[in-house]
Amino acid sequence: MHFYVMTLFPDMINNAMSESITGRAIRAGHISVKSVNIRDFSDNKHKHVDDYPYGGGAGMVMQAEPVYKCYRHIYEEIQSTYKENRVSLRVVYLTPQGKTFNQKMAAEYANEENLVFLCGHYEGIDERVIEKIVTDYVSIGDYVLTGGELPALVVMDAVSRLVPGVLNNCISAHTESFSDNLLEYPQYTRPENWRGESVPEVLLSGHHQKLAKWYREQSVIRTALMRPDLLEEAELTQEERELADKVIKYGKET
Ligand code: SAM
Repeated sequence: MHFYVMTLFPDMINNAMSESITGRAIRAGHISVKSVNIRDFSDNKHKHVDDYPYGGGAGMVMQAEPVYKCYRHIYEEIQSTYKENRVSLRVVYLTPQGKTFNQKMAAEYANEENLVFLCGHYEGIDERVIEKIVTDYVSIGDYVLTGGELPALVVMDAVSRLVPGVLNNCISAHTESFSDNLLEYPQYTRPENWRGESVPEVLLSGHHQKLAKWYREQSVIRTALMRPDLLEEAELTQEERELADKVIKYGKET
């Protein structure tokens, strides 16, 4: 998986991605991240990339040409790695106006070989270049940030951990929250007794069937308590559906 990021702040991307699990994945060659500075494609002698909005209004708008040149630079670089046919690219514009990012979208993006991100700043980007190059509009939530770098990092982080080899334990990405529209069961680690609180006995039993049943039940209970909206799309047995309904009605101590 190769990530390309069009940004005015490449250090933000490089510094964050080089840490922790994503950093290890880069060093192991499972993913690569290339940040390209849009400012490098400005023809302006002061390297400006923004200007006043037509029609007036507050703030500045990023100009179309440096963004377009930056995109073409990345496009040619990617195409040059494919000897024969040209590949179509997914270009993701991070914007509060986009579709709210979720685990399903992360899984879909993890199937791509290349993903190109466009990070806006100021009041946004000239609409003409967005219309020309962008294929996907993605938001990370209903709030407005100063730039698209943090959202791009959020998306790359979530996608990276679904790329084979990135997580040591490949099962974990498939049992955790949002797979199957359920939240993950609660987790415990040593010590067995912490300040008078013991871990649930079943976790010490080593009995695989009992454990699997407990994990599943806990996922249903937790989802019913925290995110009942997810259950509409979850595939539950009759028994699990009844358990969820009870938890929703009577709470945790059902
Ligand atoms: N004027 C724009 C609007 O009202 O839709 C907001 C621009 S925002 C200040 C600057 C940039 O930050 C955007 O171009 C986008 O790239 C990024 N951004 C801000 N909030 C975001 C969010 N919730 N999700 C994704 N990107 C966001």
